[in-house]
Amino acid sequence: MSLKDRLIARIARLGPISVADFMAECLHDQEFGYYATRDPLGRGGDFITAPEMTQMFGELIGLWIAQVWMDQGRPTGILAELGPGRGTLMADVLRATRSVPGFHAAMDLHLVEASDVLRQMQAENVPGAAFHGSAADLPEAPLFLIANEFFDALPIRQFQMNAAGDWQERQIGAGADCLIWGLAPPAPLSVRDGFRPGMITETCAPGEAIAEEVGRRIATHGGAALIVDYGDSESTGDTFQALAQHAYADPLEAPGDADLTAHVAFGPLARAARPVVASGLVPQGVFLERLGITARAQALADGLSGSALDTHIAAHRRLTHPAEMGTLFKVMALTPDGAPAPPAMEPAP
Ligand code: SAH
Repeated sequence: MSLKDRLIARIARLGPISVADFMAECLHDQEFGYYATRDPLGRGGDFITAPEMTQMFGELIGLWIAQVWMDQGRPTGILAELGPGRGTLMADVLRATRSVPGFHAAMDLHLVEASDVLRQMQAENVPGAAFHGSAADLPEAPLFLIANEFFDALPIRQFQMNAAGDWQERQIGAGADCLIWGLAPPAPLSVRDGFRPGMITETCAPGEAIAEEVGRRIATHGGAALIVDYGDSESTGDTFQALAQHAYADPLEAPGDADLTAHVAFGPLARAARPVVASGLVPQGVFLERLGITARAQALADGLSGSALDTHIAAHRRLTHPAEMGTLFKVMALTPDGAPAPPAMEPAP
């Protein structure tokens, strides 16, 4: 029985499910789940992330973290990543910070990862790291944390405003042999103003819970978090999407075989992380330029020629250009109240 058949049978028996329940099943089911059963990253996979395109991304983030660590008085603590994929980003961070005096000695490595397949790759690329299933299991210590394209993978719920101005949750129901969209009966929902009938808003309770947990640790012990993802300060409508083999797919068509994500609303994460201070959002392109990506790209280009040089130039452009990832992706930092402002960020709004 496929995951689709199992979901159809379950819905026929127990009723429609939320987008969040659907995402959780499709991504993490032990037998069929997208992340549970494969390595989705890279040119041959379904999508490619910044650290898989170029070493520069992780190198600059490594120097950002080391700077924040120095600014906070070089505490002994943990260097952690949420959803490390293949471990490439953390490997680049570690290589770039090797010559920062005392940094490696002060940091224990911790990776939060749900997928056993990806844990194996991470263990090879980041030797000595400890693994956890959830951010809540990290040791209590000064926390220096990175999360690139992690929050977009967390289950969201969607709500649509009806003609009467009430909110109805979007749900997934079942036909004879297919999954179909539907709406739950109206129910109260607390959202900001400015919505009109027909508009959709999204919430991500798991993301807020993780931001709250990370915020509490940074407020208590010190440290910082750097969150990079596509999205904006608030939910911007229907952003639920499926990606397979680098192309958009119908999310209901082949459950478990496509990556399911939604844009990240950073504002709710910032509010959940209080009392730590959330920086203003910085577009990824601006963030990387401020950290010196162009100088680093030129230095690396000196040693390259032919197709390797072309690939390198294309990766630099893809990460920073406004028409590619440069504007869609945003960066937000969380730091303790009263700590020095982190490099390359905007002040809190
Ligand atoms: N940060 C990596 C990979 C991004 S893909 C990169 O930039 O290349 C999303 C990652 O988050 C994968 O490693 C996936 O297995 C992990 N993940 C998704 N949902 C998770 C959850 N609920 N808990 C822990 N890890 C999760």
